[in-house]
Amino acid sequence: MHPSRLNFHLDARATGSRARAATFHTLHNEVRTPLFMPVGTQATVKAQLPQTLEDAGSQILLVNTYHLLLRPGPEVFRRTGGIHGFMSWNRSVLTDSGGFQIFSLPHSRSMSEEGAIFQSYLDGRTILLSPEVSVETQKAIGSDIMMALDHCIASTADEATAREAIEITHRWAARSLAARGDSPQSMFAIVQGALFPELRRESAAQLSEMAFDGFAIGGLAVGESKSEREEMCEFTAQLLPEDKPRYLMGVGTPLDILEAVHRGVDMFDCIMPTQLAQRGAVFTSRGFLQMRRGVYKYADEKLDPACDCPTCRRYSRAYLHHLTKTGETLGWQLLGKHNIHFYHQLMREIRDSILAGRFLDLYQEKRAFLHESDMDNPIREQRAKRPKSTKLGDYEVHKAWEGFASIRQISSGEIMHSRTAPMEEATRLYVEQSNLGDRVRLSASEAPETAEPLVIWDVGLGAAANAMAAINCYEEQAVLGPVRPMHVISFENDLDSLRLAFRHNRDFPYLRHSGPAAILTDGRWQSRQHPGLSWVLIPGNFLNTMAQATNPPDLIFYDMFSTKTSGDLWTFSAFRQVFEACAGRAAELFTYTCSTANRAALLAAGFFVARGRNAGEKLETTIALTPAAFHSPLAPRREMLSNDWLEKWNRSAAKFPAEVEALEHSHFEDLIRGHEQFRNSAEAERLPFATKNSE
Ligand SMILES: [Zn+2]
Repeated sequence: MHPSRLNFHLDARATGSRARAATFHTLHNEVRTPLFMPVGTQATVKAQLPQTLEDAGSQILLVNTYHLLLRPGPEVFRRTGGIHGFMSWNRSVLTDSGGFQIFSLPHSRSMSEEGAIFQSYLDGRTILLSPEVSVETQKAIGSDIMMALDHCIASTADEATAREAIEITHRWAARSLAARGDSPQSMFAIVQGALFPELRRESAAQLSEMAFDGFAIGGLAVGESKSEREEMCEFTAQLLPEDKPRYLMGVGTPLDILEAVHRGVDMFDCIMPTQLAQRGAVFTSRGFLQMRRGVYKYADEKLDPACDCPTCRRYSRAYLHHLTKTGETLGWQLLGKHNIHFYHQLMREIRDSILAGRFLDLYQEKRAFLHESDMDNPIREQRAKRPKSTKLGDYEVHKAWEGFASIRQISSGEIMHSRTAPMEEATRLYVEQSNLGDRVRLSASEAPETAEPLVIWDVGLGAAANAMAAINCYEEQAVLGPVRPMHVISFENDLDSLRLAFRHNRDFPYLRHSGPAAILTDGRWQSRQHPGLSWVLIPGNFLNTMAQATNPPDLIFYDMFSTKTSGDLWTFSAFRQVFEACAGRAAELFTYTCSTANRAALLAAGFFVARGRNAGEKLETTIALTPAAFHSPLAPRREMLSNDWLEKWNRSAAKFPAEVEALEHSHFEDLIRGHEQFRNSAEAERLPFATKNSE
């Protein structure tokens, strides 16, 4: 038996459990176990004042030898008298040996009997970390408890590798003790052996023979399952001397710690309390809370009703939710403060229960809730787990291999915006081609109060990509300068496609806007930010409902399903109705089709017809202009269909729309051949029908 530098005293053993309570003395303070050590990697527990840690009940802080060796370097500690004065911390410090960092942060490391050679991640210099260098550094830091350098391997390593590792670890342990010499600092050894009980037994036995002041269970929490870890932890703990502290390195959650105490471990460290705080998460008596969740937005109650930490005494969940959402450092600090308090409070309760002989009761009670998430505001796991149905009515969500989502009509198989992401296509085809930005912008001479509103007929609302593209364009322009009012009038006979896309708005990010929600619930939306911007829905079949539109259109986005499903919307008579609805105004119609029959129907209806830009797999699309728009000096230049097209039409097998009776063919032909669009063309004179036309 080697006397311990820690004057370890076993205060109590729990009944029916291996849990124990002890007291020992470091160079700075009396330490009561079981205890949790906050991690101060860079000589600071992230975002926490030393005073806060003291108030919360921290007895020992863990700092990392590896990081402090690289920066600021041992010389700084030698000259400033050690870490306690350096970071203004008057209680105990435990330094790890650097073995775990070398294992987990391999910067061109190589291992030899001498030690580990690695490259500094700061300046690339080559550094040898030997047992002697590790101990010298820990001596310079001036920790209360040093750790002997160990050879850490994955817990899933094979037996030969694991055996080699314990043998090196034992030789290094002896060298570490020799390097400590007569320093008053305590030193712990680290038991290795992966998941091989015989190796663990051998490692524990050999290290116990040496003059260490305590023992760590190393090589766990590095790849094994939870039950393997618990089993190996219990097995190893009972191999260790009764009269020395037992330390499980890098563990863990409150539940992990409770389980390990039950298995005979006294000391723990983990970065979790501050790391989780940075992510906005806290352990509470009501479960594990993720403060980003919207359920806390108006929560005026304290963070944890059972906690009296400075955070819980003073701040509401609503405020902490806000700080988390905004990424404020104070949120991290306040949540970290609470988490550290929570860990220490748990350790105090555990110790008290051991001393009072009721640990098992506490163990059962805590175990039942420590894995819980917020019990008062449960996360509906069912909803999260079961994917939302991707179908609604005649529609389903279609995922393109390029990654974007669209809506497909099941009965026809037709996909809205099949080749390009919906918003991209809507912007390209409807917003950019119509020069919408220019149209809504007011010139210096126009006053917003008297400016004529721009009216868009959005024929075929679908999943609202076209309407939202127009609204987004308007909102952008409104930020840049004065704009005229804009009314979007959407026509749709089946809202299921929008409902479906809205349910999946993760896939349809443009729907995360107040507009679509209001259209689905109220059928209308008025922008709060821009008083001139409004949107209404006219439900029903477009041909029957277009008369309900209170304003004739300036722009028409004609985006119905094709003739296969919506044949009546692509006919001569349908376009005739649309033409009449334009009421002699300058209006332009944009549509994705470029079929000869559709263009002929538009021409016969009275529109002038131009080629639109390509979209998806279509080489071109179509723009139709009312005569007033065609003749307007302000209208953008369009590439009008010329006599080439007329010639092609003349030869076409589908020359006449299906609903045009044979008897009316000659009339329809006259409407096209006599169209003003072609009449002025010199080319027209050379076409065969020119003779007939002039008769
Ligand atoms: Zn608290």
